[in-house]
Amino acid sequence: MPVAHSLGFPRIGRDRELKKALEAYWKGDLDEAGLRQVGRELRAAHWQLQADAGIELLPVGDFAWYDQVLSHSLMFDVIPQRFRPAEGEPTLETLFAMARGVSKRCCGSGSQAQEMTKWFDTNYHYLVPEFTQDQSFKLAWTQLFDEVEEALALGHRIKPVLIGPLTFLWLGKAKGEAFDKLELLERLLPVYGEVLERLAAQGVEWVQIDEPILVMDLPQEWKNAFERAYNLLQRAPLKKLVATYFGGLEDNLGLAAALPVDGLHIDLVRAPEQYPVILDRLPAYKILSLGLVNGRNVWRCDLEKALEVARHAAERLGERLWIAPSCSLLHSPVDLTREDQLDTEVKSWLAFAVQKCAEVAALARAIEAPEDPDILLALQQSRAVQLGRAQSPRIHDPVVQARLASIKPRHSQRASSFAERIELQRAGLQLPLFPTTTIGSFPQTPAIRLARQAFKQGTLAAGDYTEAMQAEIRRAIAIQEQLGLDVLVHGEAERNDMVEYFAEQLEGYSFTRFGWVQSYGSRCVKPAVIHGDLSRPAPMTVDWIRYAQQQTDKVVKGMLTGPVTMLMWSFPREDISREQQARQLALAIRDEVCDLEAAGIRIVQIDEAAFREGLPLRRAAWQHYLDWAVDAFRLCASGVRDETQIHTHMCYSEFNDVIESIAAMDADVITIETSRSQMELLEAFRAFDYPNDIGPGVYDIHSPRVPEADEMVRLLQKAAERIPAERLWVNPDCGLKTRAWPETEAALVNMVAAARKLRAA
Ligand code: GLN
Ligand code: ZN
Repeated sequence: MPVAHSLGFPRIGRDRELKKALEAYWKGDLDEAGLRQVGRELRAAHWQLQADAGIELLPVGDFAWYDQVLSHSLMFDVIPQRFRPAEGEPTLETLFAMARGVSKRCCGSGSQAQEMTKWFDTNYHYLVPEFTQDQSFKLAWTQLFDEVEEALALGHRIKPVLIGPLTFLWLGKAKGEAFDKLELLERLLPVYGEVLERLAAQGVEWVQIDEPILVMDLPQEWKNAFERAYNLLQRAPLKKLVATYFGGLEDNLGLAAALPVDGLHIDLVRAPEQYPVILDRLPAYKILSLGLVNGRNVWRCDLEKALEVARHAAERLGERLWIAPSCSLLHSPVDLTREDQLDTEVKSWLAFAVQKCAEVAALARAIEAPEDPDILLALQQSRAVQLGRAQSPRIHDPVVQARLASIKPRHSQRASSFAERIELQRAGLQLPLFPTTTIGSFPQTPAIRLARQAFKQGTLAAGDYTEAMQAEIRRAIAIQEQLGLDVLVHGEAERNDMVEYFAEQLEGYSFTRFGWVQSYGSRCVKPAVIHGDLSRPAPMTVDWIRYAQQQTDKVVKGMLTGPVTMLMWSFPREDISREQQARQLALAIRDEVCDLEAAGIRIVQIDEAAFREGLPLRRAAWQHYLDWAVDAFRLCASGVRDETQIHTHMCYSEFNDVIESIAAMDADVITIETSRSQMELLEAFRAFDYPNDIGPGVYDIHSPRVPEADEMVRLLQKAAERIPAERLWVNPDCGLKTRAWPETEAALVNMVAAARKLRAA
């Protein structure tokens, strides 16, 4: 029978117990023993859940106090100097300091947290290891071994999980003098060897070594290093499964198949075409683990389809076949049975981590005992679900489909060129040079949150809620007028989240109550689920924005979330392409843009915060993505007159490799995050001769620090060296919802002063 195993399970707990415990611990309401107790209980519960679902080899090491990459940094003693304890071994305090930074106290200088970035193309963030040229490694953190002990004591059959040496190095950053991280491999490998020895001594038979970088374009030296590294690790007296996921091995397939290890895991959800090609390359002694159940979406697996592959593989491989989710279930919500308010039809289509484990087990069992009545039933149910969903009127909206079919290239094209549009817009808007604005949200005060919550729970009547939000709008407008800002916003008080707010008003979206997924540390997100064709039954923001505009003679900018961002931060459908879903979203947003224009709104901002993160892992796939992503944006932005000014906003700082597509979006104004890069990232825009208006962020909104006006003047002068002054806007890096009002006002006073100084100069 094929072994059913899992690559990792979500650690947050079905009630986000880990989040709650961590936050209590950081606040001082829970002591370390209490925190450790919560961790122990969660691990025990999760192993049991997986075992009960039929998983035979349970992952250990998928638990982390904050992030699994950070755990590895500690394990290998990759602890930046600023966090090193004065004496003794690193502690939990060390770990949390690396993750969250240490704020300035009376006498210390404080230490900045390690940088955080996205884990491959998921919405999970890891803490970037910091390597120095003289980096040394040693075994400095025993968490993995302790947890192995713990699982064994509970009587489980386990498979510890490690991030492989090459992926670990790849994910880190060289600090100080520039050097090649790969030079560190020789020093790192002996410690990996030690880890493996120690696991073997604990009685571990199999270890899983994750090398997801094998699905990326790798430089030749990195490819070569794989063989070298695994030749060395080969000596450790236990079996090794190298796990790859998030894509296909492609040009690395031969390399991965030939590594001197005992097994290979491949992702057949993202890259089904790897099978059966892999069979011809796999040495006859090796285990092949097939990732057949999607580890990063919420849909039930089509068991019959997966079983076809599994059966074929079982015939060829016999005992050498293993079955698993495509990747760690870290990226799935925990347990669907918790959803008591979800529509029953939609619920019947879904599977979360616990259910996915059962699917993996069912596939393995179906090969061993195809006549088992339980299995026959599971297969029959799976077929019914697939059929039911494919035919459900919930999914298919003929109106949406007909409209999409009628869309022509001209719908993604503004009437005139930017050069012509901007003249009309300047004449109409009458803005000063260096116009000032903000990115959309103002502080989300406790009063705002309470009102929203009360409204959702039904304890605040709709009329009272509207009045409360209108009061917030009046206040935001009054403050902005007083500050002397040029283009005002309504402040986004009514929005909990920039995706959910819109998703709730679109047809085709479902919402879970407990579908939380870890984003980083104690932070979890609950993405909405796209279950069917998307459309906008009624205007979503027009009343709020119109109300805001009625309060002032200055121009108020409408505020929307773009199609790509809506898609990237939701659980997408799998029965149609991402591109198609983006186009449906684009049409819904296009209607909103047009309705805002009809309501007298002259500027509309369409945020695309997730535009860059949608880039595929492989370069060869970039252009296709960029083409449809750009087109989706243009489709929603091109329904308006030339006089209506379209803004977009992107809050990150890497544009070099996508600048052509950013320009192709043809937004009249783009606002970006730049303050921390000292305007350097404008270089990409200068080099490309980016033609439209730009608002480079002049202050960092992530910290409460209030910058001086002169600081912002200097930044803007730097900006003006790269972008002609008449095309520059003045704004913060991003929205202000996480800030408090006093620092917000103080910073904006200075920002307006900076713009005025420049105008006078
Ligand atoms: N308009 C949004 C805001 O101001 C933009 C947020 C974002 O880009 N992440 O909050
Ligand atoms: Zn932003």
